[in-house]
Amino acid sequence: MVAFSGEGFRCVNCGAPLEVSPDTIAVICSYCGYLNWVRADLKEEVLVIRPLDERELLKRLQGFASGKGLAGVFKEENIVNKAFIAIPYYFVDAVAEADYSGRVAVYVRKCRREKDREVCWTESRRISVKGIYGPYENRIPVVARRSTETVSIKALASKYMESKAEALPIERAGLGKDFWKGALSIEVDKEAAMDIALNIHLNKLREIVTNEIKREAERIAKRWGETVVGSTILWKRITPKNVKVVASKPILLPMYIASYRYGNGFYRAILCGWDGDAIVLEKPMRASERALWIALATLSAGLLGGVGIATLSAYIGFLLIILGFAASWYCMRKALAPVKAKIFGTSAIESMEKELGKAFSLARWWI
Ligand SMILES: [Zn+2]
Repeated sequence: MVAFSGEGFRCVNCGAPLEVSPDTIAVICSYCGYLNWVRADLKEEVLVIRPLDERELLKRLQGFASGKGLAGVFKEENIVNKAFIAIPYYFVDAVAEADYSGRVAVYVRKCRREKDREVCWTESRRISVKGIYGPYENRIPVVARRSTETVSIKALASKYMESKAEALPIERAGLGKDFWKGALSIEVDKEAAMDIALNIHLNKLREIVTNEIKREAERIAKRWGETVVGSTILWKRITPKNVKVVASKPILLPMYIASYRYGNGFYRAILCGWDGDAIVLEKPMRASERALWIALATLSAGLLGGVGIATLSAYIGFLLIILGFAASWYCMRKALAPVKAKIFGTSAIESMEKELGKAFSLARWWI
């Protein structure tokens, strides 16, 4: 339990003052690295991924920047400031099944020879399906903070889930003051993290089962020898069951941020702390660039959307509308971003693509 003296909270281990907000559950002392629990009732072990050495991180950034033609910018002598930030996460696993039933209109293409030409039309077949879907197995990261998530924070979590980085108890990690200065306090407890994740897991499960209902109905129609061109769910019922949710211990993921001054501008690099992969490189954006992004946003929404509506095939048309939307969304975000353009590192691109699907990568290509 944290000691409380006249001036505020103090570290139990070394007596240094601690920054504690009403949301704080646990805070790591920035002087000695001791884990202080403000809410003793929620006390548990906290793990950390040990970061790479700072020199090594900066070396890897140099390498990445040279590949992007930015070797001159991210030089050591241009550094204005640099810091580790350790962000606390829970990783919440869920296993579940779902009972489902539904009725689907499956559209099929019929053709007939009339004299010397072929006449084709679409008919619909109503098909009922029911069954049990499972097992659903998935892992979702939840930031143990009240603040909103940004792209770089999400990218960090998905990088961790793909990596084999080992999480150590903080007492055993042997990290110094420079690291603990940037450790963020824990503001979300395990129960709350599990609730947040459960909601996301169940939405994912429903989405998967909804697709499964359509696919199954289409499979049945194909088995009847039909040529399937699409389908619509008329009604569905999805009931999750045997839901099991398990949250990890809080894990601190290190992120490394370095700011550089080059010419008249400031540049910022956000790196994955344990392997040095660039998550985001930022540079200042000029007014002319901003205008270009706005123009692109308007154009891509109008052009792609317009083509989509005019296209004969409903499916391709729909895809084009989505694509137009994604492209304009992307451009608009670039135009409205405060002062910076972002050059994404590979890891950030991968995690965003996973979230937004192919529309995003196509939009990127289109731009
Ligand atoms: Zn301390």
